[in-house]
Amino acid sequence: VAKGFRAAKNRLAGKKEITPEMVDESLRDIRVSLLEADVAFDVVKKFVARVREKAVGEVVQTTVTDKAGQKHRVTAGDHFVKICHDELEALMGPVDTSIQLKPKDQVSGIMMVGLQGSGKTTTTGKLASKLLKEGRKPLLVAADIYRPAAVDQLKVLGERLKVPVYFEPNVPPPELAKRGYAAAREQKCDVVLIDTAGRLAIDEALMTELEAIKANVRPDNILLVCDAMIGQDAVRTAAEFDRRLSLDGFILTKLDGDARGGAALSIKEVTGKPIKFLGMGESMDKLEEFRPDGLASRILGFGDIVGLMKDFEGVVDEKKAAEDAQKLLSGNFSMKDFVEQIRMVRKMGPLKDLLEKFPLFGEMTEHLNPDEKELTKIEAMYDSMTEQERLRPNLINDSRVKRIAKGSGRKTEEVRELLQKFGMMQQVMGTIGQNPGLLGRIPGFK
Ligand code: GDP
Ligand code: MG
Repeated sequence: VAKGFRAAKNRLAGKKEITPEMVDESLRDIRVSLLEADVAFDVVKKFVARVREKAVGEVVQTTVTDKAGQKHRVTAGDHFVKICHDELEALMGPVDTSIQLKPKDQVSGIMMVGLQGSGKTTTTGKLASKLLKEGRKPLLVAADIYRPAAVDQLKVLGERLKVPVYFEPNVPPPELAKRGYAAAREQKCDVVLIDTAGRLAIDEALMTELEAIKANVRPDNILLVCDAMIGQDAVRTAAEFDRRLSLDGFILTKLDGDARGGAALSIKEVTGKPIKFLGMGESMDKLEEFRPDGLASRILGFGDIVGLMKDFEGVVDEKKAAEDAQKLLSGNFSMKDFVEQIRMVRKMGPLKDLLEKFPLFGEMTEHLNPDEKELTKIEAMYDSMTEQERLRPNLINDSRVKRIAKGSGRKTEEVRELLQKFGMMQQVMGTIGQNPGLLGRIPGFK
């Protein structure tokens, strides 16, 4: 996908105005890319039409000024990517990640539906965990009664989360769901999460059963859980579930894998129902509220830059994060930033999670996550550099390398290795920074 968008962008690089011919050529690359990202054909057609309408005749500003007063060059290609990004976002919006909950003195219901293996049971646990954090008292109902393992799986999750799980053998799911509500009232719980059965494909028996559960308990929310890996099939599945059950929204799972998530776009467009959450892994904390900007970047193939910056925000304040992002990506990435980033990243905890969001960072994991001993060495070498060398490491010649090695008590090879790692990092940052369309998504960056 990234290739198509990059090709389109390169086509327009250096152009001052976008002509209809240029747009059509670029859109050809993009059409193929989107189809490869699992976006449904009709949706691609619609998207392409909207981008064409917006892009043709755009006179492109050649520079933008950021908050710090620094000027950045913008080409027609950048602008085009930004239009694509914004249109993708628009297709996925408006954002509605709400879950309908009654006041705590009443029992609210969330019914989870989806094909077998889509992640229903896992996501039921994740939602319960989220609700717990919000001060709710969830109860899980094991209404996938056909596979004993399914009931056990939910019981294990319930135990881990310290949340009651309701199940009774030989009770049909619609009745079981109803009794689940009664059990919730008895145990002073305020949200019932119903984990229903799935099939490998949609069939009539399943749909009839789900309709009966719905009619029996009238849940406040019916959420479809969809596996991002099944691609185009997700659209048909979503449309059929929505037709039968009138969904409130859907959750796309397994986005920690290779799937680009184009299916989300199709589902939203076809059903008109909002994407509520994204599943980003198997453990209970891997549920994220849906943000169109993140998914748009992902579909475009540039990684989730906004999500990445959000993680930085937990460690530093927002203004500093925006400044860091600008600096990181503007190509003025100094040795000083490098060491600061290592320190900051270490404070963030599991680095892998963070870097997974960012395909380009994959190979950098190793370099950015040195062990304690390694970090002490890096800091010693860094301390032995002059301020000028920290800001412009390419000034460091052989005699300076020797001086730094001597000053820090390290070998000259170690100093060279550090400089080399830094050079790689600088290159990666530069590559990312060449997409001002994305820079525009970072809070505080205009
Ligand atoms: P169900 O049949 O719909 O209830 O699906 P399960 O909840 O049992 O999930 C099927 C498999 O997908 C399990 O191995 C889960 O651990 C896994 N899974 C669920 N959600 C995610 C996710 O967001 N990411 C990853 N990597 N795996 C997931
Ligand atoms: Mg299950």
